[in-house]
Amino acid sequence: MSASPIHDIFVIGGGINGCGVARDAVGRGFSVFLAEMNDLASGTSSGSTKLIHGGLRYLEFYEFRLVREALMEREILWKNAPHIIWPMRFVLPYAKGLRPAWLIRLGLFLYDHIGGRKLLPATRTLDMANDPAGKPLKPLFRKAFEYSDGWVNDARLVALNARDAADRGATIRTRTKVVDARREGEFWTVRLQNTQTGDTEEVKARLLVNAAGPWVDHVLSATVGLNDVHNVRLVQGSHIVISKKFDDPRAYFFQNKDGRIIFAIPYEEEFTLIGTTDQDFSGDPRDVKISDAEIDYLCAAASEYFAQPVKRSDIVWTYSAVRPLYDDGASKAQEATRDYVLKTDGGEGTAPIVNTFGGKITTYRRLSESMLEKIEGFLGKRGKPWTANAPLPGGDFPASGFDAEVAKLKTAYPFLDARLARRLTRLYGTRARMLLGLARSNADLGRNFGADLYEAEVRYLVQNEWAMTAEDVLWRRTKRGLQLSREQAAALDEFMRGISRRHVAAAE
Ligand SMILES: Cc1cc2nc3c(=O)[nH]c(=O)nc-3n(C[C@H](O)[C@H](O)[C@H](O)COP(=O)(O)OP(=O)(O)OC[C@H]3O[C@@H](n4cnc5c(N)ncnc54)[C@H](O)[C@@H]3O)c2cc1C
Repeated sequence: MSASPIHDIFVIGGGINGCGVARDAVGRGFSVFLAEMNDLASGTSSGSTKLIHGGLRYLEFYEFRLVREALMEREILWKNAPHIIWPMRFVLPYAKGLRPAWLIRLGLFLYDHIGGRKLLPATRTLDMANDPAGKPLKPLFRKAFEYSDGWVNDARLVALNARDAADRGATIRTRTKVVDARREGEFWTVRLQNTQTGDTEEVKARLLVNAAGPWVDHVLSATVGLNDVHNVRLVQGSHIVISKKFDDPRAYFFQNKDGRIIFAIPYEEEFTLIGTTDQDFSGDPRDVKISDAEIDYLCAAASEYFAQPVKRSDIVWTYSAVRPLYDDGASKAQEATRDYVLKTDGGEGTAPIVNTFGGKITTYRRLSESMLEKIEGFLGKRGKPWTANAPLPGGDFPASGFDAEVAKLKTAYPFLDARLARRLTRLYGTRARMLLGLARSNADLGRNFGADLYEAEVRYLVQNEWAMTAEDVLWRRTKRGLQLSREQAAALDEFMRGISRRHVAAAE
């Protein structure tokens, strides 16, 4: 066991909320230590529907505060990370017998007007007989509404917040579990365990942030030692990925007969993403898995709309995650609030803790600002809110300049195939140049593990983004897992064990 200096803030959890808070705090001058027990974004933050959205549906539950804040975030986040976030238009077919057209129009009117929309285009009505969006759908859907929201690569948003926090001086540890946190007067003593080696270590901090997502109550009771805590309702949500069902760049918003909705979204160039579900969950969130009933539900719901039904055999991948919703006592999982709640304990001689419950990817930056207000209430003010105008790593180019950025990369590296240049810009933005370095040909990028995943990219992810296993690279830092065969993935795994071993040896 080794001693370490006293940090201002210790953050438990490397999901979007933990990494967002760490980044904001270190940027204001606090010293920050963050521990994530698995990989960054390995919890809920890689399993979302990946929308930067106000949440049209939440208007039905009168969540005006949340919807307004989330709508305002759309353009702020896009501006700061135009590589991994972009605008998307959504087509909402009018379906007879479900929500009346006047209600949808009213919702979309509010959506267009309460959220400070400047760049995103407004809602319009579509005649589906003449619009290409009508083509893949059954002909009975004759009218639709088209509105704006945004798309985000959720797992990369987490990694980039962690990267920026580390660039500004935060310590970020992955595969490091907080096994115990005890108050000793004005300080916390936090015991950590490396989940790969079993080694333990103690860190001291003035304030603890509990951003453990679906584990937040578990951390409070088992790790911090508070009894009988119940703050979150765990709600499972699953998605299916099928081969591309339509060519249009727009996504669909389908209403279901049970009052719920699902999305069908263009995904990773060659696929369509369909989701999600809402069902209460119990157990360890790490074990969450799509059920047969969820698969049937998603296939049936999408088949109500698409002219060609969606079948089980179309599915190429599924993923599931658990929402840590603040338990407001709603009767149905889909009605539980999506807003976030921060709760504090301690202060005045007792080391403080701030817990975060609920929230959306979309509102993580605002949640972090609210968290910093609480933190500054305990530790004193250090700096002003700053993240609204600060690009994330690789996002330092104009919001509407993505294609120009791809062209610049092609000019600098003429040997790059157009698809690869686009993919690298989408993932790394201006930092694609760091990854490519002095390369003058594909051969300079090293081994190709399949689907143009080169050694240079893998090494970049190990050195800069805490990637340690093939799964980190294939399913969180990239989605190359959709393209690589089992054998190719195994070869990458073998290669990565080699580099991880060398990294550990070098550090010792
Ligand atoms: C199906 C689904 C769809 C969604 N769709 C959207 C959407 O389209 N748009 C949107 O804005 N939001 C969406 N959300 C919500 C959003 O994904 C979550 O609100 C957000 O990801 C929660 O992030 P988090 O950081 O709180 O939790 P997490 O991402 O789960 O992070 C918590 C982390 O804490 C770590 N941890 C736990 N205990 C310990 C410990 N003892 N020591 C160290 N680390 C620990 C975990 O490993 C985990 O990585 C969706 C959620 C789901 C489930």
